[in-house]
Amino acid sequence: MSAYTQIAIAAGLAAGLALGHCSSKAYGQNSQEQSWSIVIHGGAGVIERGQMDEATEAAYRDALNHALDLGGEVLSQGGSSLDAIETVIRYLEDDPKFNAGRGAVFTSEGHNELDASIMRGDNRQAGAVAGVTRVRHPIALARAVMEQSPHVMLMGEGAEHFAASQDLEIVAPSYFFTERRWASMLRRVDQLGLERPMRPEGAPDPMPVQEGALDIMEREHAFGTVGVVARDQAGLTAAGTSTGGTTAKQWGRVGDSPIIGAGTYAEGACGVSSTGTGEYFIRLNVAARICQRIALAGEDMQAAADGVIQDELGVMGGDGGIIILYDGAPGWSYNTAGMYRAAWSAQTGRVVSIYSDEP
Ligand code: ASP
Repeated sequence: MSAYTQIAIAAGLAAGLALGHCSSKAYGQNSQEQSWSIVIHGGAGVIERGQMDEATEAAYRDALNHALDLGGEVLSQGGSSLDAIETVIRYLEDDPKFNAGRGAVFTSEGHNELDASIMRGDNRQAGAVAGVTRVRHPIALARAVMEQSPHVMLMGEGAEHFAASQDLEIVAPSYFFTERRWASMLRRVDQLGLERPMRPEGAPDPMPVQEGALDIMEREHAFGTVGVVARDQAGLTAAGTSTGGTTAKQWGRVGDSPIIGAGTYAEGACGVSSTGTGEYFIRLNVAARICQRIALAGEDMQAAADGVIQDELGVMGGDGGIIILYDGAPGWSYNTAGMYRAAWSAQTGRVVSIYSDEP
């Protein structure tokens, strides 16, 4: 296994995984009885030990733990994997630490343009939205596209009209504003030699942002996209992803996250959510490619995930990672130095990890 590859279900790791941040909540099930599973990511990038202060690291671990609690609560009570995905991603979209919903990165014109998608493995229904600027929970909108419209993908204003017709929460664009993402975009715009955009109407008064914090964001490639793959007690595997895209993106750029097959995919017992340089993930059709290597070539989950992320994506020059569930077993593969990630299944128990030297 490559140094940068971590798969939570690797034989013998289960004991080590118990070292993960264990929850006090057991939901009345021991791991033998647990038939549901969930795996979560909060983005990949150059996330290395010693570069984050203790409080920041603890805040990420707490958020991932809480995300597991939320998903576990839905699934242990017999809720559907779609409900678990939506519940967890809504929470992460509200958390400004992640590049999804509130706290999303800015375009070079000073807007937050949000993308999300969701797919179910049993009948391959899917929903996606791109470039929405006023919908508080883009994942809820993607799900509504799947369940309440005859379409798979809606974009921009039309998607927002549809959101309003579905009674989804509409917010002012400034709701998504965070100072550190704004500062990070300005820095990138300066590097690109572009004109600095005006501070958005309704944004709070400017506050100083520590230069160090900006360095960290740059090393993280401003990743922080969020994704969830879950299997419920009825055996439905589904996957979802939500993002603000890439810092200082231009010209209506759309990445892989709302592209079914690239950023999100579910087919039968396989589900994948991606994070990384979207242009590469689109061209490689990463999420579907991994599931299809398992289904068509008979590869095991680890080999298929590594083959695409470590080999194919790496050779093309793309960086990032994926989370996967196959037959209820969670795993991940990434070719960056770290990935915010968490899993909970019968095989693994609870795992919350950030760095490459963790399970
Ligand atoms: N994949 C996302 C995009 O390219 C960004 C990310 O995962 O950080 O839009």
